[in-house]
Amino acid sequence: MFGILTDDAALARADLADATYYLAEGVDGTRREPLPDAINSVACWGDTAAVRDRPDRAAVTADGVRAVPATEGHHWATVCPTDSDYRDGVLERLEQVGRVGDVRLTTLGFPGDGFCRCGRCRQQFGASDHDDWTDWRTDVVTSFVADAAARVDGRLTATLYPDPYPNHLRERAGLDPQALAQHVDEFLVPLCSIGYETTYWVESLARGFATELEGLEPSLSVQVSAPEADVERLTGLSRQVAPHVDRIVYGTHPDDVDVITETIDRVRDALESDEQGGNSDAGSTAAADAARVSN
Ligand SMILES: [Zn+2]
Repeated sequence: MFGILTDDAALARADLADATYYLAEGVDGTRREPLPDAINSVACWGDTAAVRDRPDRAAVTADGVRAVPATEGHHWATVCPTDSDYRDGVLERLEQVGRVGDVRLTTLGFPGDGFCRCGRCRQQFGASDHDDWTDWRTDVVTSFVADAAARVDGRLTATLYPDPYPNHLRERAGLDPQALAQHVDEFLVPLCSIGYETTYWVESLARGFATELEGLEPSLSVQVSAPEADVERLTGLSRQVAPHVDRIVYGTHPDDVDVITETIDRVRDALESDEQGGNSDAGSTAAADAARVSN
């Protein structure tokens, strides 16, 4: 039920939860040695360093807006998903990481509705069997994930953008959970904040994903990361989210490890006593939170 996510190798080896997610390759181009017994996350098309070296690799809209950190709404650079040399390189890295441990794919898909309209993408769409741009983009992403799954021996996790509204993921990124379900073992949705001053939206999104992914084989995990949240807040939040997901993954740093382990202990105890008593105050916590917000 519980996982931690960290970029700290010592923490990752400390066996603090049921599963450990390790940031092996980040969007800034950082690479760390993947760890056995961990779910090693690899940034796929988010790669600021690659675009710095080769600016023509950035995904682009029809108006020439580039997916780079200087563009509003983009915190990192995103390579065009039809760049076949880059794609081959990512698959090669996934194969290497997959020989060591399980693999989580991040920055999967196109970096927004308008991307990518580069000459190569327009040409490939024109030459494809698709009449619909969204269908074509979804096919590009799904076939990449299928190729990744063929190269990774262990379990494969796909990170989803936190928008469960029907069809939004396809339109935004070319991500189709129905199509991806046959290739991956887990969907992971980041629902991060600074301190979770409010939590109703986390519960709403987790619940939305539970509905949207109902009946699909892969498990559903949510990632909660909040450098300023205390144990009380994280515990309350976790109890609201727990009924809707298979796993809660906590972003963890060496300086907040005590907060996270205490939260996990408390939530585990609470869930166990809920099971025994058949009663839960998680619903009333959510209601109180919602009331606080609406007032
Ligand atoms: Zn393109």
